[in-house]
Amino acid sequence: MENKDSVLMERYEVGRLLGQGNFAKVHHARDLKTGQSVAIKVIDKVKALKAGLTNNIKREISVMRRVKHLNVLQLYEVMASKTKIYFVIEYAKGGELFNKVAKGRLKEDAARKYFRQLINAVEFCHGKGVFHRDLKPENLLLDGNGVLKVSDFGLSALVESKCQDGLLRTTCGTPSYVAPEVIYGRGYDGMKADIWSCGVILYVMLAGYLPFHDANMIVMYRKASNADYKLPTWFAPEVCRLLSRMLDPNPVTRTTISEIMEDPWFRKKPESHSNIPREIGGEEGKGEELRKPTRLNAFDIISCSNGLNLSGLFAESNQNKEALKFVSLQSASTIMSKLEDMATHLKLQVKKRDRGLLILEASVEGRRPLSIDAEVFEFTPFCHLVELKSCGGDPKEHWPIVEKQLREDLRDIVWAWSDGRQRMNSA
Ligand code: AMP
Repeated sequence: MENKDSVLMERYEVGRLLGQGNFAKVHHARDLKTGQSVAIKVIDKVKALKAGLTNNIKREISVMRRVKHLNVLQLYEVMASKTKIYFVIEYAKGGELFNKVAKGRLKEDAARKYFRQLINAVEFCHGKGVFHRDLKPENLLLDGNGVLKVSDFGLSALVESKCQDGLLRTTCGTPSYVAPEVIYGRGYDGMKADIWSCGVILYVMLAGYLPFHDANMIVMYRKASNADYKLPTWFAPEVCRLLSRMLDPNPVTRTTISEIMEDPWFRKKPESHSNIPREIGGEEGKGEELRKPTRLNAFDIISCSNGLNLSGLFAESNQNKEALKFVSLQSASTIMSKLEDMATHLKLQVKKRDRGLLILEASVEGRRPLSIDAEVFEFTPFCHLVELKSCGGDPKEHWPIVEKQLREDLRDIVWAWSDGRQRMNSA
């Protein structure tokens, strides 16, 4: 993946680097089949394992599956090689929202527009029991239509604090967007902590700078804990009221998402439509679930596997030495036709053909014929477990030769063999 324009799993042409962290690099990529742009987040498995993030990654994958919303960057699929995990994510062509803010504060209507989209995403995710815990400028991206996309919802365990320059960036290790109760480690309510961060984000969009800022971190923490911030003269009274309820240092009395959604400033219609990002279908994504991706995903494989390798899926594979198993990211029909091609090539006779099952037989002169059952099990429409096992004849003698041929003939449709060998191209 270091090389520009390498091909990943024969499916994605991987291009320029979009961003980078300690464990992850994000690349632009193009789906070779559909031509669609995607972002691929590459996580170094060894680093993630060493940092004890295995369970986090698995938990977060399962979380991401539940979160499909217009204003949340969608995770399309997860793939893995021996050393890397690849998150294939919706591509946000417009880049970070805060690059816009860095050029100057936003007009009230534009800020409200983005804020609504942010609150809609947060409300939806909270409804699914998912809290971001790390809402900050780097996580607010825009798509090609200017629609806000919250990134890393559920992946916050993987987000590292980064040293960044610039007015709107947190200085290294300064959690300018984090609620006071989180800073003081008192145990916190994820919903209320996210609301605080949204309040800071709203302030930054309207002001062009942070509400709580000081070169001395202790002073900054104290300012946040005392809600010690100044309201610029251009802030409308309604937004001042909303901010004061969001930036309430006491999480118990801090406002709720439903109260924010009822707030007069939040609900106010835009005065002009210029410079405001176009909404898709006039909707702001409220409660709207995206269509289920038709593309494959390998979430299940990784999230039910042992460690971050796939061997846990094949727990019993050692019990039958004359068997071969692999995961394929092809459709069942492609797999079945490949199995038939393989049978023809290896001069195996098809004895039975059923949905997802082929019984093949090899005539071996002077011996009982070798029978092979090939069975395809579906995880998702584009993710299958394929099992080939010898069921008759003299497998001990012939299997090693047959197995070698089978492996060769089927390699095009194999994503990972049960013995942990994973096929990767140029990755
Ligand atoms: P992350 O490691 O997720 O914080 O990503 C690092 C940087 O890569 C972000 O701050 C963005 O600038 C960029 N990036 C991440 N995900 C995407 C995406 N899906 N589309 C476009 N840019 C992205």
